[in-house]
Amino acid sequence: MGSEQTTLVLIIPPHLQKRGRLIPSHHPIITATLAGVAKQAGARVFVMDMGVSGLNTEDVLEHLQFIKPDWVGLIPFEYRREMPIQPSLDLVEICRITLPTVRFGLLNCPLHSEESKEAVRNGDLDFAVFGDSEAFVYQVCTSQQWTGAGLYLSVDGHVQEYPPIQQVDWNLVKVPAWELFNLSRYVPSAHRYRKAPVLPMFASRSCPFGCDFCPHMLYHSSDTHSLRPVEDIVNEIQTLQRKFGVRSIEFYDPTFGVRRDHVLALCEALKKLETPIEWTCFSRTDLWDQALLEQLHQAGCRSILFGVESGNPEVLARTQKGIQLSQTEQFVSWCREIGIDTVASFIVGLPLETPERIVETIEFAKRLNPTYAQFHQARAFFEHEDWQSLGTVSGSWEETSASLNGLAYVPNGFTQTEIVQWLLKAYWQFYGRPQKVGELASTIRAWSDIKRLGKGVKQISSHFVVL
Ligand code: SF4
Repeated sequence: MGSEQTTLVLIIPPHLQKRGRLIPSHHPIITATLAGVAKQAGARVFVMDMGVSGLNTEDVLEHLQFIKPDWVGLIPFEYRREMPIQPSLDLVEICRITLPTVRFGLLNCPLHSEESKEAVRNGDLDFAVFGDSEAFVYQVCTSQQWTGAGLYLSVDGHVQEYPPIQQVDWNLVKVPAWELFNLSRYVPSAHRYRKAPVLPMFASRSCPFGCDFCPHMLYHSSDTHSLRPVEDIVNEIQTLQRKFGVRSIEFYDPTFGVRRDHVLALCEALKKLETPIEWTCFSRTDLWDQALLEQLHQAGCRSILFGVESGNPEVLARTQKGIQLSQTEQFVSWCREIGIDTVASFIVGLPLETPERIVETIEFAKRLNPTYAQFHQARAFFEHEDWQSLGTVSGSWEETSASLNGLAYVPNGFTQTEIVQWLLKAYWQFYGRPQKVGELASTIRAWSDIKRLGKGVKQISSHFVVL
C-alpha cells in the first residue's frame, strides 16, 4: 500500500430525468464495485449518484471542496444508464475552475468510445479508463502510480495510453460498497423479485454471443466472457445477507448460465446456504433443459428474463440472436411446469419491421403467455450500416420508451410516435386480457404483492411520459 492515503470521489453524472427520477433506478453496481475495490485498497472513497440523489452541479462542487479529493472518476456508462458524455464534461468544466489540482476523468469507458479519447486529447478531461476499471482503481489507490490497465492519460499535453484488460481479474473484484449509497433511492424492476431487500450482483461478465442490438459491451466492455468463481459468488451473497439483510439477488450477468458445469456448481453451493436466498437472472432460452431448470429452482431461482425480441422469424434472424421461436416456447413451458416466473422481453421497431410483423410479435407474446412481458423500442448503441440503411437513428436521448439508455431507432416506414403507439398497444393487448388479469391477481398473497404490482404499473406508465 502507498504511504499516503488516496482520496477519491466517484460520480454518476446527471442523467436525463422523467418526473425527476429514473424508474426503475437500477442499483449502480459498477460504481459500487469500484468503490469496494478502492476501499479494500485503503482509499477514502465518496460516491455521488447525481440523478438519483437530486444533486446539481453546485451541490457536487460544494461537496468536492469539502472532501478535497486527489481525483474524481465519473461513470457515465453505469449499468443500464448509458449516457452521452457531455453532461460529464460540463460538470468537469465547472469543477475544475475551483479545483484546478484535482484530476477528473471517466471510468469504465466502452472500448470503442472515441469521444472519451477525444475529450482527453482536447484537455476536457485529465484521463479516461477503457474497459473494466477495477485493476486501474486498485493500482492507483495502492501505488498512486497512474499507469493502470486501460488508462488514457494526458500529461502536460502528451497522451499516454495503457492497454485495457482483456478479461476481468476476479481477485480484484470486491463486494460492492453499497454502504456508501442511499439504497432507499433505488427501485428494482417490480416484476423481477418477490422478497425485498434486493441487491444485484454478477456471476460472470461479458457475453460470448453477438446479437446485433445488444449493449452489454457498454457497461462491461472487456472483450472476453468470464465466469466468477462460485466461492466468491457465495461469499458475496452471505456478506449482502449479513450487512444489508437481502432476501433476493438479481444476477445482472448479460447471459447467466453460459456454462452448465458452472451453473450446476453454483446451484449446489446455493442449496447449502444457511439462510436461503431467492434470485433471478437474465439468460437465453437455448441454454436450458428441464433438468437444469429444476436445479435452478431448487437453488432459489424464481424468475428468468430472456429476450424473444420478435415474433417474426425474419426480423429475429436478422438480429443474429440465433434462437428459434420454438425453443422459447419449450423453455417457457418447462419454467411454467417447474414454477419459475418468466419475463419475456420484446423489441418493437427492429430493422425490417412492418406493422404486420409487430402484430405477429404481439400475437406471439400472447400465445407464449410468459408470466410478464416487456416491450421496448429498438435502441441504437453502435453504428451499424445495416441499421442505418433500414431506418433512422434519432439524435435525441430523450425519445425513450424504456429506460434512458441508447438512441431511439425508427425503422423505415414508421415515425417515432407510431412506434410508441405500437408499444402501448402491445402492453394493452398483453396485460389487458382477462386471462392475464386473472393470473396476476391470483399471485397476490399479501399487501406487499399489491404494492409491488402497483410499482410495476407505474414503471410501465413512466415509459410513456414523453408522449
Ligand atoms: S445473448 Fe443476450 S447479452 Fe448476449 S449478445 Fe445476445 S442479447 Fe446480448
